[in-house]
Amino acid sequence: MDPLTHTLTGVVVAQILPLEVSTTTATITMAISANLPDVDAFLRRLKSTAFIEYHHGLTHSLIGMFILSGLFSLLWTPVVSAPFLTVYALSILGCLVHTAGDLLIHIYKIPLLVPFSQRRFGANILVGLNPLTSSARCGERSLRICARCQLHSALKNPILIILASCVLLGVASGRRYHFSVVGLTLVIFYLLVVVFLRRKARMMCLAHNGIAHGWETTSINVYPASFLPFRWLCVVEENNAYHLGLVDLVRSKDPVAFTTLSKEEGSPLIEAARQTDTVRPLLEKAFHPYATAEPNEQGTLVKWKDLAYAFDPRIDLFTARVQFSPDGTVISEEFRERW
Ligand SMILES: [Zn+2]
Repeated sequence: MDPLTHTLTGVVVAQILPLEVSTTTATITMAISANLPDVDAFLRRLKSTAFIEYHHGLTHSLIGMFILSGLFSLLWTPVVSAPFLTVYALSILGCLVHTAGDLLIHIYKIPLLVPFSQRRFGANILVGLNPLTSSARCGERSLRICARCQLHSALKNPILIILASCVLLGVASGRRYHFSVVGLTLVIFYLLVVVFLRRKARMMCLAHNGIAHGWETTSINVYPASFLPFRWLCVVEENNAYHLGLVDLVRSKDPVAFTTLSKEEGSPLIEAARQTDTVRPLLEKAFHPYATAEPNEQGTLVKWKDLAYAFDPRIDLFTARVQFSPDGTVISEEFRERW
């Protein structure tokens, strides 16, 4: 989730806590610590697959949050002149609020219990950083570009709109506690609506004849395809093919139209690309990996992409590209969230 929404969630939660420290101290402490787990975002600057491998990893786990909060509290307690344990508790709560937000978005899930368990958790019901509105340059090493991408994402997020409205109304009316309770209640209600609409989208997909009769389905998954919860991507997997269907709950009442993609795994270049340092980490995380090989003037371009993000045919989302020369040597390889 974007930093603005994380920050506002921390601010709103701080208003409803029964505390002995001042509300200002609690608000600032929660606002900062609600962003702490994203210290791993610097991995994006490494321009490698480190971001897919480690982002939303240790720093978002329970152990990681306790350690991060402890380090932050050691530095922050002298600044705010509040008891260490109060600052530590607020900081842990801020981190938990952050991870609770991230558990809702469409990402490669969070290993909450590492190092004790590698099991990953996540609901995949909200789009995270919006790959459609954000620029193809989002992955570049520039704080300004990164901030602009995050802002694009934030302004499309209904949760941010709800929380920002309640904070403003609370400050203007002097009833911060009441408007914070209203804001959190509305967010919970909104999430229930999202879950309901996802269920509806899934039902529309299941009504397809192929799923009911023809296809030897091994899995059926529904992923968010826009910030408003009315567009969903349905990915139906068979052993040898994927079927992709876009559900628009506002416009389409007809049965969902599916596009079929045959799995082309097995060709030598696709298998060679699978072994590269760029593709391997993507395949370890990808929900529905799919490969294509296209001849071009330099030789052959192999793309490995995650079809869980294939909700816009105009651009490649979550795709690793490996360029081969005519004799099968790797010339270049790169992963981007958006091409
Ligand atoms: Zn995060």
